[in-house]
Amino acid sequence: MTPTVEAVGPDQPLRALWVRYRAYRGRFVAALAMSTLNKVADIMPELLIGAAVDVVVRGDDSFVGDLLGVESRYTQLVWLAVINVVVWIVESASEYAAAVLFRGLAQSVQHDLRVDAYDHAQRLDLGWHERRPQGATLAVVNDDINQLERFLDVGVPAILQTALNVVLVGAVFAIASWQLMVLAFLPIPAIIAGALVFQRRLEPLYARVREGVADLSGALSANLAGLATIKAFTAEPRERRRIAAVSNAYREANVAAIRSSAAFVPLVRMAILVGFTATLLLGGWAVLDGTLAVGLYSVLVFMTQRLLWPLTDVAEVLDLYQRGRASVVRVLRLLQEEVQVTPGERELAEVGGAIELRGVRAGYADGPDVLHAVDLVIPAGETHAIVGATGSGKSTLLRHVLRFDDPRHGQVLLDGHDVRDLDWDSLRGSMGYVAQDVYLFAGTIGENIAYGRPDATPAQIRAAAEAAAALDVIDALPEGLDTWVGERGVTLSGGQRQRIALARALLREPSVLVLDEATSAVDNETEAAIQRSLRTATRGRTAVVVAHRLSTVRHAHRIWVLDAGRVVEAGTHDELVERGGAYAALWTVQTGGAAL
Ligand code: ADP
Ligand code: MG
Repeated sequence: MTPTVEAVGPDQPLRALWVRYRAYRGRFVAALAMSTLNKVADIMPELLIGAAVDVVVRGDDSFVGDLLGVESRYTQLVWLAVINVVVWIVESASEYAAAVLFRGLAQSVQHDLRVDAYDHAQRLDLGWHERRPQGATLAVVNDDINQLERFLDVGVPAILQTALNVVLVGAVFAIASWQLMVLAFLPIPAIIAGALVFQRRLEPLYARVREGVADLSGALSANLAGLATIKAFTAEPRERRRIAAVSNAYREANVAAIRSSAAFVPLVRMAILVGFTATLLLGGWAVLDGTLAVGLYSVLVFMTQRLLWPLTDVAEVLDLYQRGRASVVRVLRLLQEEVQVTPGERELAEVGGAIELRGVRAGYADGPDVLHAVDLVIPAGETHAIVGATGSGKSTLLRHVLRFDDPRHGQVLLDGHDVRDLDWDSLRGSMGYVAQDVYLFAGTIGENIAYGRPDATPAQIRAAAEAAAALDVIDALPEGLDTWVGERGVTLSGGQRQRIALARALLREPSVLVLDEATSAVDNETEAAIQRSLRTATRGRTAVVVAHRLSTVRHAHRIWVLDAGRVVEAGTHDELVERGGAYAALWTVQTGGAAL
């Protein structure tokens, strides 16, 4: 299932997370409860100090004495000590529980968001991915989501603790002296107002920081993929400068954000200074005047500390929040990208493999038409070839058969059904595709061949490999099918990779085989071998074969000649040669002028 795009959008990132991950609300509340318990226990020592001072100074009519009904001051202090020990134990235990719960929650949310974001990204159209650097998408799914960790781990608990602090300390003050409470709380509105101003200033700055990460990630992954070219053209110094420029843009975005963010802390400190000084001075005078007990005064001074200093964290939390928010916004935007090419509903019990293109006009993004009203009919079970110069639109045509893209106009039909009405299993599930640039996954050769049919037996894998003339490649490798091939199959030559990819397509026993220059990189001899086995393998199947080398397609039932996105000729090899048109000219060139 595609993750549902929630009604709450990127403009309310935290709410969106809250709505999206409802399942974690229970754990969130538990973590919150532990945090609350921890904060309550945390405030107790200050109260105990006050009570102890009270005991020593006031003796028999001390607060503790009244409360516990104990007369001896020694016993009163013992009681205080016992309470103190219990409080410390509760404090430590609840701190541990809160940390484990909050951090676990942060990891779970990150994990879910990461998997959802990846899943959505893999469903997004091929065209969407082709329009932006791979590294930029990677940055969102990986880096942006990892940014959440600090915010959820540190930021959210800190916000809660600060809020709890204000409430609990406020309660103590309210009981003791409301005048002092007003003084102590004086800085808070100023801090909140400051936070709002800073938040507005920081938002665009951190959005730019995240863009910087995406640019950097895009540039780095592109360069690492093109390392051989960089080396061959000794472009290292130039690429170093280019990456340095992108990295510098990122640094500058960060520095701008840090400058703004760091200015907030001194502001908070000044506000705190006012509140603390007022409590210290006016509270002290009140004690001298005899309107405030000494024990209570010391509690209140400690409490002011306890209330106000954590507020300096507000600045850090705000910073974490803005960083986290900028990242969540990007992840949510990705999740809100709409898939244009969505599967239909219709399931076909059996796919015959008849393919038809009716007046297909197609192109990429906002670019010009690449295919102009292409009509093409491939009856089930036949092998048809598509030939034409580079850039004439052959690969584009195949992309439409697999429905990587939808045509701008016209229809693509499989067994008479518009491919837009078919579900992916019926459409792509019935096809075996070898792309023009073969991709092998990091894994063994056996795993790569079995990619479209993971339950295949080794015997079936070997049979498919044999049909693709890949068996000699495999048997020549030290570990055979278990040989590890890296990402992009770097341990194999181009022709070897093509044969593995062909075996992968054949193993699927597809109704329709779609080959895009699948043998362009193999030598003539191997190609002839592949041709022979393909003739067996394609028996009873439809095959759409794009080939540059015309000898490959000589025996096709029909050959379609594309020129600049139009079908200019169609027929069997003999018919086309006899016709003396574009195909005949190509054939003459490729056979070195030999007539046939
Ligand atoms: P062929 O396979 O016959 O060599 P293609 O179908 O790959 O030709 O390309 C046909 C035209 O479409 C070319 O002009 C090419 O530049 C353009 N094209 C191909 N793929 C893309 C793409 N992903 N995005 C934009 N334009 C593309
Ligand atoms: Mg092509």
